[in-house]
Amino acid sequence: MSDLWSEMAKRAKPYEAGEQSLRPGTVKLNTNENPYPPCPPVFKALESCLGSSLRTYPDPNSSTLRQAIARLHGVNENQVFAGNGSDEVLGFAFMAFFRTDRTIRFPEVTYSFYPAYAQLFGIPYEKTALREDFTIDEARFFGSEGGVIFPNPNAPTGIVLPLSAVRDICMNNGDRPVIVDEAYIDFGGETAISAIAEFKNLLIVRTLSKSRSLAGLRVGYAVGQEDMIEALNRVKNSFNSYPLDRLAQAAAQAAIEDESYFNETVSVIKRTRETAQETFVSLGFDVLPSSANFLFVRPPVLPAEQLYRELKDRGILVRHFKQKKTEDWLRVSIGKEEEMAQLYRELADILSAAIQT
Ligand code: PMP
Repeated sequence: MSDLWSEMAKRAKPYEAGEQSLRPGTVKLNTNENPYPPCPPVFKALESCLGSSLRTYPDPNSSTLRQAIARLHGVNENQVFAGNGSDEVLGFAFMAFFRTDRTIRFPEVTYSFYPAYAQLFGIPYEKTALREDFTIDEARFFGSEGGVIFPNPNAPTGIVLPLSAVRDICMNNGDRPVIVDEAYIDFGGETAISAIAEFKNLLIVRTLSKSRSLAGLRVGYAVGQEDMIEALNRVKNSFNSYPLDRLAQAAAQAAIEDESYFNETVSVIKRTRETAQETFVSLGFDVLPSSANFLFVRPPVLPAEQLYRELKDRGILVRHFKQKKTEDWLRVSIGKEEEMAQLYRELADILSAAIQT
């Protein structure tokens, strides 16, 4: 840190992403990526972009992609905003809706990018306590001073809030923004997109990184009433007017339009999650009820951090969060059946060795 740094750079507490550079052959269950490839039309769409059109700037407003997203959700194109991954969309939303003189709320156990944005933009925040069982008590989000943000399903717990509770939070925050991060909603739970028409303070943020297998492409979007989308556009056009390149726009549209591949891969992942849930329980773990493509589990016998390390030594990567409320738990992304089978074998081996010593 030096005097060259702005106040913003000095106060930043950057987000720490899960490990990405790995030994070949590592079973990667640490960043909730989709274990299945993107749908075949994605590759055709990418090929169609590999020509001289790359010489020119892409459509700054991602219009064709936004039309496809609008069709998917039965909303109007002007109720959709597209960005470079939902992390960027969330960053724009913090800038567009949260203020430095009003305290916002998010759950005490949640996506760790929220405090990073709040810190960067100087937005005061309070961490709202969860119930003992890690569920969100929606009433604790009523009447916020500056607005609220939470993932639904929550991360890293995987626990979903019913639509009625999301609606209650919107209703009880009147003219304060309510941002619902639906990164994992395709794996369970009910989207709040149907409530957009009713609540002018509701913004829903989505990603193509999880259920559409496109984490490497970086595409996210938001859905809300036109007034909220306009605020996002003002921020975007004051920062980077071309956030999505030509390849990202074309491939994301192809992924959005392939409904049958989407339904097939999501249901395989949900089936694998059910088996994983049962297997973890049979190995003696506590497991939270997940509506996402990951499980939050508390191991028996060994401390979570030690188990994380032992698995890593055996070529399996899961996520351990060192904070007080989460240090006894591990977050395990749902992989392919064979990857999960390898995980169960290693877990059984590690745990039985630990019991004998
Ligand atoms: N929200 C939540 C709750 C997440 O877990 C993630 C993935 N790390 C994101 C948003 C961001 O996803 P992306 O930027 O890949 O769209």
